[in-house]
Amino acid sequence: MLNYTPKEVVEREALKINPCKTCQPAGALYAALGVNRCLPHSHGSQGCVAFHRMFLTRHFKEPVMGSSSSFTEGSSVFGGGSNLKTAAKNIFDLYDPRIIAVHTTCLSETIGDDLGSIITEMDIPEGKYVVHCNTPSYKGSHVTGFTNMVSGFVNYLSRKTGTSNGKLCVFPGWGNPGDYREYKKLMKAMKVPFSMLPDTSGVLDGAMTGKYEMYPDGGTTIEEIEGLGDCISSLALGIQTSEPSAVALKKKCGVDYNAIPLPMGIENTDKFIMTLQQFSKEDVPFEVEEERGQLVDMMVDIHPYTYGKKVAIYGDPDTVLGITQFCLELGMIPKYVITGTPGVQFKAAAEAMMEKFGIEDSVIKAEADLFYLHQLMKNEPVDIMIGGTHGKHIARAEGIPLVRMGFPVIDRYIHSYMPLVGYKGGMRMAELIVNAIMDYQDSHCEEKDVEMVM
Ligand code: SF4
Repeated sequence: MLNYTPKEVVEREALKINPCKTCQPAGALYAALGVNRCLPHSHGSQGCVAFHRMFLTRHFKEPVMGSSSSFTEGSSVFGGGSNLKTAAKNIFDLYDPRIIAVHTTCLSETIGDDLGSIITEMDIPEGKYVVHCNTPSYKGSHVTGFTNMVSGFVNYLSRKTGTSNGKLCVFPGWGNPGDYREYKKLMKAMKVPFSMLPDTSGVLDGAMTGKYEMYPDGGTTIEEIEGLGDCISSLALGIQTSEPSAVALKKKCGVDYNAIPLPMGIENTDKFIMTLQQFSKEDVPFEVEEERGQLVDMMVDIHPYTYGKKVAIYGDPDTVLGITQFCLELGMIPKYVITGTPGVQFKAAAEAMMEKFGIEDSVIKAEADLFYLHQLMKNEPVDIMIGGTHGKHIARAEGIPLVRMGFPVIDRYIHSYMPLVGYKGGMRMAELIVNAIMDYQDSHCEEKDVEMVM
């Protein structure tokens, strides 16, 4: 299908082809699902939220809910204030959420609806909440929308009472429910009292019970979000995605923060564990040390297969940086490191990693698309690709394996239950990468070279 992608790279400013991102509201909707009994609400026309729900449903294989202000021609001209007020009343009456999290869309941003004012004019039932964030889709990406929604919860709800709750506030960044479960497991093991925002575990990785629950038990509670202002400090995981929310909490409630990369691979997970250790002052328990040792053992075992392999990595900025770090630790050569999300931090962070590992001539680019990545690969091929489903046709055209990691993965199952973070996540990454390389070898080598024991 993509066999005719031209080698010659032409600078493009006004066109993205296979963009390696989606629009801000999709991320805002996902973040809102990580709050207990929250109904995400899209302030725009119905098509937007239908698309975002479908997109998230395809990745998580779970029904994703979200309501809409259902803009018509009239609201597009005169503003959607009355639509939103009617929507909030109907939603509380019919669907009974505890909180509605509103995000904007291209349309409502362009006409300039002032959501803050509209919400103050609403008749909100006692004990219920409406919060909002702005998510203009012509800027940033779904990652930006995710960050904006998390900061929106902080700006509306967090407060400082003056009495510390002794907790660590954790902004985990964009992850799968499996990642959020892994964070909670490690923080429990490290005896760190915490509140984490958001948390989609227990919401989008529920067990089959035979009964549909519109609001599963999971998600950060409103009381926990309110209490973030009384935390001792906050920890932002994934600098581009989470630091702005930590800054918002510091501005509002004076909570100091620490921002570190997503704990993917050995070095970044060590950093995470040591940060937790500094908070709790507890020894690192044996089970965590053992997991680390197991991962190191696996990395040594698979090194002959991963060493020197050229890899193209693409997806969301913090996830791509985490995967890149792990590939470097496996002795691989990250030849192309690409994100569709804009931001200057990405390139600087990736370049620092390459320099540390002595890798030269890598192409690192933010706000890039997958058509560009394919052109780079036409000029200098790689052995393997790592990223979401949208690279599938490129991998097929080039006849190389694609390891699915990040967002979105819409043509495979189970991934959202499994962590990529922590030492356990490293084990999963190692397994996916080495097995893809060995499968490729099995199916492409000459008959005489097929071995039972590799
Ligand atoms: S890009 Fe704009 S119009 Fe399209 S789905 Fe996103 S918010 Fe809606």
